[in-house]
Amino acid sequence: MIPNSFQYKKASSVSEALSMMDDDSQILGGGHSLIPAMKLRLNSPETLIDISKIDSIRGIKLNEKSISIGAGTTHAEIAASDILAEHAPMFVQAASEIGDIQVRNVGTIGGSMAHADPAADWPAVLVASDAQVIIQSSEGSREVDIDQFFTGFYGTALQRGEIITSIRVPLTAGNRHSAYAKFKQPASRFAIVGCAVAADMDGTTVNEIRIGMTGLSESAFRVTSAESALKGQALSEASINGLDGDVTEGTSVMYDHYASVKYRTHLGRVFMKRALKKLL
Ligand SMILES: Cc1cc2nc3c(=O)[nH]c(=O)nc-3n(C[C@H](O)[C@H](O)[C@H](O)COP(=O)(O)OP(=O)(O)OC[C@H]3O[C@@H](n4cnc5c(N)ncnc54)[C@H](O)[C@@H]3O)c2cc1C
Repeated sequence: MIPNSFQYKKASSVSEALSMMDDDSQILGGGHSLIPAMKLRLNSPETLIDISKIDSIRGIKLNEKSISIGAGTTHAEIAASDILAEHAPMFVQAASEIGDIQVRNVGTIGGSMAHADPAADWPAVLVASDAQVIIQSSEGSREVDIDQFFTGFYGTALQRGEIITSIRVPLTAGNRHSAYAKFKQPASRFAIVGCAVAADMDGTTVNEIRIGMTGLSESAFRVTSAESALKGQALSEASINGLDGDVTEGTSVMYDHYASVKYRTHLGRVFMKRALKKLL
């Protein structure tokens, strides 16, 4: 449980952090995934570049058409955000249930996205919200649609030498009417499964809906079969209970000593229904 020795550098701006990066360095956000991995010697960067005190990548801002969440914003800051409570409540619900208070006070949304743990909560919420990820490198900045960001087991579209600076969440009727439900691992509170739903409604009828699932397979994904089944239908206890299609979207379902493939698949359906029922 002792990491290899490493150098520690603190950046005061994104450009300074980018100028410090080389092949043997790694960005340090909240350190709540990276430091445990270093202690287990699963990861041994020679230099850590701490970006946690860069003000320009922290905080939540309401713009005309979107909400901007700085990558360095902590889970606790998101849980306490009035802007997100009003315009995208699934963010507040997910943040409030991440880990414990220590994890929430230090861990960041950008760190969680870059780490891309298959049991992390944010991927489901971000996929349901149709967010864009803003990424900076010494070459400039680029944007990646969330549907292209998570690429597999701990895999993302991030390249070496890139830093996530913010996430743009569109201001949509769906995001305003959104919810998150998860089945927690009892010790860590990671999601054994977690489901986020964002539904644009016309009265009780579903116009558009995005459903994001995490924990079930190696990467978060949209449950398009349930999205199609609900589109144009009234959202009710009966229509939700009637959703009996495949929630796995043909992905390979994970298993471990907490949940077999069969049980995890069952939980996926149950927690998708619970998230949807929160919208009623
Ligand atoms: C006890 C415990 C319980 C937890 N429970 C949960 C839970 O219930 N749900 C959940 O979702 N998570 C949980 N986590 C994980 C937690 O949310 C972490 O905070 C998160 O996964 C990583 O964020 P971080 O800011 O700590 O990143 P770090 O650990 O600092 O970094 C993680 C990785 O991301 C990279 N990185 C960090 N920031 C950026 C950036 N802006 N741009 C590019 N790369 C970056 C780092 O180089 C590293 O590779 C738990 C962690 C612990 C220790």
